[in-house]
Amino acid sequence: MVAASTSSKKSSGAKRRRIYHRRKVCRFCADSSLVIDYKEVRTLRHFTTERGKIIPKRISGTCSKHQRQLSQAIKRARTIALLPYVGSMEY
Ligand SMILES: [Zn+2]
Repeated sequence: MVAASTSSKKSSGAKRRRIYHRRKVCRFCADSSLVIDYKEVRTLRHFTTERGKIIPKRISGTCSKHQRQLSQAIKRARTIALLPYVGSMEY
């Protein structure tokens, strides 16, 4: 991060975060009722893009342990055509 050096203070009020409310806590660690399972397409969908890609843990906040299980599950779900390899807009 490069600190903005010059003193260009914006006096326009409150400090706003650009970052959306994205918890940096792994969902699966936080919520034990969430199960990573290839049959749980609903859950898996949250962690894939529209194109069917797996969302990296950096973005989703999933810990590596669960991310791994997740990708396994997603790949498995793809194999049995529960999830698309390549995104199609149809559901
Ligand atoms: Zn976790």
